[in-house]
Amino acid sequence: MDAANGATSPGLVCAHHHLYSSLARGMPAPPRTPTGFTDILELVWWRLDRALDLESIRWSAMLGAVEALERGCTAIIDHHESPEAIDGSLDVIAEACAEVGVRVSCAYGITDRHGADGARRGLAENERYLRAGGRGMVGIHAAFTCSDASLEAAAGLAADLGVGVHVHVAEGAADVGVADRLRPLATDDWLLVHGVHLHDDHGLAGTFVHNPRSNMNNSVGYARPARFANPVALGTDGIGADMLDEFRVAYARHREDDVTASPETAWGWLATGWDLFPEARNDRVTWNDSHMDPWRLAFTTGVGPRTVEVDGEVVLVDGRPTRVDADEVRARAAEQAVRLHRRLEEM
Ligand SMILES: [Zn+2]
Repeated sequence: MDAANGATSPGLVCAHHHLYSSLARGMPAPPRTPTGFTDILELVWWRLDRALDLESIRWSAMLGAVEALERGCTAIIDHHESPEAIDGSLDVIAEACAEVGVRVSCAYGITDRHGADGARRGLAENERYLRAGGRGMVGIHAAFTCSDASLEAAAGLAADLGVGVHVHVAEGAADVGVADRLRPLATDDWLLVHGVHLHDDHGLAGTFVHNPRSNMNNSVGYARPARFANPVALGTDGIGADMLDEFRVAYARHREDDVTASPETAWGWLATGWDLFPEARNDRVTWNDSHMDPWRLAFTTGVGPRTVEVDGEVVLVDGRPTRVDADEVRARAAEQAVRLHRRLEEM
């Protein structure tokens, strides 16, 4: 740590992201106000994902990757769904992140909500991408939108390929029964996202990913991740990749629930990201603050990177990405957002 030049750290890791949601900001309001979590899925996200094509996925991922780098996040564990543009979608995301200089782990979230053929095509996209050498996991949307056959097929493919499964678990009350269905399948390399409605003794193997801001936004309740014996990591669930900000929210929520909570715990959740994405330890972020200390960062807003190096290459200087023109990316993303929002209005 050098006070004159700013503290340094490895690149931060976002353990659960949806890069496809970068263009959602400013989207037209749903046909009626959602009154619960399932409504939010049906009226907002399950309409948005159907409106995506490969071009909008590309610029959504480019924008999300630029925004991650601008906040010192060098590694993203992404969970993707685009039912009208499945084939090749993971390559589009991986290539966009590579262009910006951000590491990404991709997964296609399979689901039976568009029929068994949709789940098969999603699984095929995971397999195609992973067998071609892509870094990633096998994705499942959530148990409550999948048949037992689809869950078993995804778990089997992941085991065959030596990767884990990335799956939403008990985010809302609708996912009741998920623990019994996943318990025989889940292994330590699975990423279990949310876990809000799980019992303390759920018996699931894997790492939980806590997304406090998203849980509040969807009004699903507090996951109380400190109760789990499993490792816990932090994600944004698609609300950007500002992991210091997510850490602050995670601490505030923990403290609201338990006045003895220390920011060291939420910092530990952030640090779990380096176990999930060890390559990020080879990245170096130089911050505009002289102390990367949990007790200070919990109460200091606006801390950001001056420079970011990924694998020895400088990819951000003075807050500006070096490999791409951030203004150009924002302009192209804005054009795609107009197209995407128009399609949503027509649905
Ligand atoms: Zn999610």
